[in-house]
Amino acid sequence: MSRLSEPGYVREVLTRHGLHLSKAMGQNFLVNPTVCPKMAALCGADGHTPVLEIGPGMGALTAELSAVAEKVVAVELDRRLFPVLAETLADCKNVELVQGDILKLDLQRLAAEKFGGEAFCVCANLPYYITSPILMRLLETALPLRSITVMVQKEAAQRICAAPGERECGAVSATVWYHAQPRLLFQVSRGSFLPPPKVDSAVLRLDLRAAPPVQVDDEARFFEMVRAAFAQRRKTAANSICAAGRYKKAQVEAALSAIGARANARAEELTLPQLAALANQLEKPGVANPGAAGV
Ligand code: SAM
Repeated sequence: MSRLSEPGYVREVLTRHGLHLSKAMGQNFLVNPTVCPKMAALCGADGHTPVLEIGPGMGALTAELSAVAEKVVAVELDRRLFPVLAETLADCKNVELVQGDILKLDLQRLAAEKFGGEAFCVCANLPYYITSPILMRLLETALPLRSITVMVQKEAAQRICAAPGERECGAVSATVWYHAQPRLLFQVSRGSFLPPPKVDSAVLRLDLRAAPPVQVDDEARFFEMVRAAFAQRRKTAANSICAAGRYKKAQVEAALSAIGARANARAEELTLPQLAALANQLEKPGVANPGAAGV
């Protein structure tokens, strides 16, 4: 069992390095001895598949990933943790640490330089304050990515796994379902962390699809429409979409009717094929979108 799952040892290392954990950087470290080995075993990394970790913290998950993966590249924002990681990961020779912000680094370049174009997995206990931006960035950047296994807040995990057409679905879930097949793996109680956060957590895995499950004529317009449709959950999809300014309400209602949906349907009632058909219909020149004619 790794000593990093002993709260007393973690506190001793932090004190010795003069470190206080930062709430602003989402620093809640895993101290449950079963969680990191389970994540490492389920993330898809193996002797032929390298892994990208986001936020190694003190290295509890990193050490387990190092034991199963060909190579681990771990991106950490907080420079203060590097002397700690040099100590805790001293025996993990296949781990490379990169200092940086996962939301700003050039991920294509990182993947090419560190993994030489090989398909890789992501495995991380995410900083919860940026769960959605990280997932969106990973999914929307063209990367040779096989799967993403991440710990997130339990409620966020439930929302992310909700399929379009289900009540809890939002713009992030619709984007996730377009790119991947999500699956809730297991739940983790708040007591598994030091310090314990105010919420429970869950680990989910997204398996990237070889091709999207629906035909979308213009991806940029599709995602723009999806974000608009879910932006105001109390409104109908038509009202939300036209509030974003690109289409008139009559156009959206005509498009909804053309795809066989109710004019007053809410975004969360529309399935992924319906969302795709709606975006395609809105961009067709003609009745649904006279403004697009001749553009
Ligand atoms: N992996 C460790 C564990 O499970 O114990 C730590 C996980 S902790 C929830 C999140 C980690 O992400 C922290 O180490 C934090 O410093 C780091 N972090 C926060 N924002 C980041 C960012 N934008 N880019 C990279 N790492 C970040």
